[in-house]
Amino acid sequence: MGFVKIRKEIRVTGLVQGVGFRPYVYRLATDRNLEGNISNTVSGVTIEVQGPLELVEEFVSRLPQEAPALARITSVAVREIPCKPDGQFEILPSLVGARADTLISTDVAVCADCLRELFDPADRRYLYPFINCTNCGPRFSIVRGIPYDRALTSMAVFAMCEECRAEYEDPRNRRFHAQPNACWKCGPHMELWDALGRALGVHDPIRAAAERLWSGQIVAIKGLGGFHLSVDATNAAAVERLRERKRRFEKPLAVMVPSLDAAGRFCHVDEQGRMALSNWQRPIVLLPKTGDGTIADSVAPHQTDLGIFLPYTPMHHLLFAAGKFSALVMTSGNLSEEPIAIENREAVERLGGIGDAFLVHNREILRRCDDSVVRSTARRLRQIRRSRGYVPAPVPLREKVPAILAVGGELKNTVCLMRGNEAFLSQHIGDLENAAAFDFFCEAVEHLSRILEVKPAIIAHDLHPEYLSTRWALAQEGVKLVGVQHHHAHIAACMAENHLDGRVIGLALDGTGYGTDGQIWGGEALLADYGEFGRAGQFAYLALPGGAAAIREPWRMAVSYLREAYGDDCLDLNIPFTRKIARRKAEFVCRMIAQRINSPLTSSCGRLFDAVAALIGIRHEVSYEGQAAIELEMVARNSNDTGAYPFELSRQDGPWQIGARPLIEAVVDDLKRGVSVETIGRRFHNGLEETLARLACRLGEESELTRVCLSGGTFQNALLLDGLTGNLQQGGFEVFTHSQVPANDGGLSLGQAAIAARFARAESK
Ligand code: ZN
Ligand code: ZN
Ligand code: FE
Repeated sequence: MGFVKIRKEIRVTGLVQGVGFRPYVYRLATDRNLEGNISNTVSGVTIEVQGPLELVEEFVSRLPQEAPALARITSVAVREIPCKPDGQFEILPSLVGARADTLISTDVAVCADCLRELFDPADRRYLYPFINCTNCGPRFSIVRGIPYDRALTSMAVFAMCEECRAEYEDPRNRRFHAQPNACWKCGPHMELWDALGRALGVHDPIRAAAERLWSGQIVAIKGLGGFHLSVDATNAAAVERLRERKRRFEKPLAVMVPSLDAAGRFCHVDEQGRMALSNWQRPIVLLPKTGDGTIADSVAPHQTDLGIFLPYTPMHHLLFAAGKFSALVMTSGNLSEEPIAIENREAVERLGGIGDAFLVHNREILRRCDDSVVRSTARRLRQIRRSRGYVPAPVPLREKVPAILAVGGELKNTVCLMRGNEAFLSQHIGDLENAAAFDFFCEAVEHLSRILEVKPAIIAHDLHPEYLSTRWALAQEGVKLVGVQHHHAHIAACMAENHLDGRVIGLALDGTGYGTDGQIWGGEALLADYGEFGRAGQFAYLALPGGAAAIREPWRMAVSYLREAYGDDCLDLNIPFTRKIARRKAEFVCRMIAQRINSPLTSSCGRLFDAVAALIGIRHEVSYEGQAAIELEMVARNSNDTGAYPFELSRQDGPWQIGARPLIEAVVDDLKRGVSVETIGRRFHNGLEETLARLACRLGEESELTRVCLSGGTFQNALLLDGLTGNLQQGGFEVFTHSQVPANDGGLSLGQAAIAARFARAESK
């Protein structure tokens, strides 16, 4: 019986290493008795497969369909080649030293198969905290360089035992080439240390740590991308002690819960939230609290949302199994805004005053990586902090670009490297305000360049001359520098992730960004493409009395707005705000503004939120960036009022001006009438949405543009984002927002890079 035998070569590019792709292909081929081989290439894998025509074709069509969950196939190219006598299907060894253009996987939460083994008393890895397989486990955080091979990870120091080695070499085993493969016999292990870093020699460190947590102690726990500081979230005194010691007084703390069921007890979890909580990235998900009072109020004071996440390492599961906790605070292991600690000794040194004990292990974390944070909004999931689980997965671009590095801004810094038609954003680096953060920044740039094998000839940076990222860029030699205006970068980031080209109307709302006129911008309407932008609208300039002090003390901004509306008599207004502030200080602030002493001008929308929040008594001072605005949103969400405060929209020569005087007067009137803060907050949001939509309409008429991009940290406000989007759509606009990268400054580097790419293209013409 004859049949047609053919041989095909299939080239697959994308994320196909370290994700169980080769054993998958091996099974797919051997299940059909096909001959041939698979090997790694510079850009992915190449498969040769030979057999009866129908079976080979079935193989080719199934290949992308049934690929492992973590694989990300960019392209599949198939061609027919002459048959060869193989006799079997083989996995050819990786070429040592081959330039691997393949992608490094992100860290992946422990999979269901490994979890089953973890709690199976008959399994040889029963209760082993480092169990993993080709579908799960650490990746990015343990990678030193490429190719992704055990020798170039922090697992290199652990020699596999015979059993692990056999699994690792067996193409039919689900641990075939699982680089972090390990077991009790040969792999890393955990220890419990006291506050001074002395090993306690306990038999079961995880259980002992659980007991300490149970008794109210603070335990510093080494995880996947860094240390966490943990306490029992239901123990108010313990949470209080953690806040005192960490010097983090009001910023909400993230809470890890053992299961989706537990999550549903503390938060309203809709379908989108459920997906976000249980996907393999395991981000912290911000979800509305239920009334359940089990978790201490001090975990997320003044918040209607709670940041929750599920266990993602085997160790987390063991901790919950040992302790029967309903919720554990798991906050970054750092002192206030410094980078998260990753080394055992470093942790004891830096966190010694905070942790009562240290649950550590001897698998080195090579890449610091904070937990990611997402928010579930009415329309989709939004990134707040894109880090563990998402990095270094690229953001796809609409076209190929030259190699470019963008160094981001100052707060919530990330960097971005573009290669081919993909943008690789770094993990969350944080606020570049101290030496430790700057070291982390340099390290992230170096590592990203190394694993992507890119030496960028172009570096994009913010225009602010004092940002450490700008200063770093300016000090690089032999590269082309491109300075990018902050809000232009925000809009370009939104355009890039939505694959837009051409001109758009951009609404960039945030706290602070250096303007081309040297003033502090932050509430801008731009007409922009990647090449250039014009400022078509802005919040009218107002004094920022005391500069940075006005950011920490929103009451100063409230005085600035009041004075603008009512003149120097504003302090005599009979409203709770003027009765509560210290008269002397307020008069001083008024004088500063009048005499223009240390009072730069700002068009910041973030500061307007601050001012309104202070004016209606939500808070006069903040302990973290954006706090007043966040609390104002929370308050406004409790009202369904449909009233909308007026703003003034006017124009003379320059950009449209959004004036807040009518708004401030309306707020003051409502305060005098005793209208609730919820209603005032809601009317403020409604008014802002209406005004911005009105401005967009004017700009649309003038420019005939119909696409609007929304970007900047203010759009983390889901109420504003959803409301404004609705308003704009009703006005006939197509609205584009962020979902893959944060709207805040964490997404800035993507926009800078996109602008530099256009610049490079123009240069080369
Ligand atoms: Zn697994
Ligand atoms: Zn072993
Ligand atoms: Fe910004």
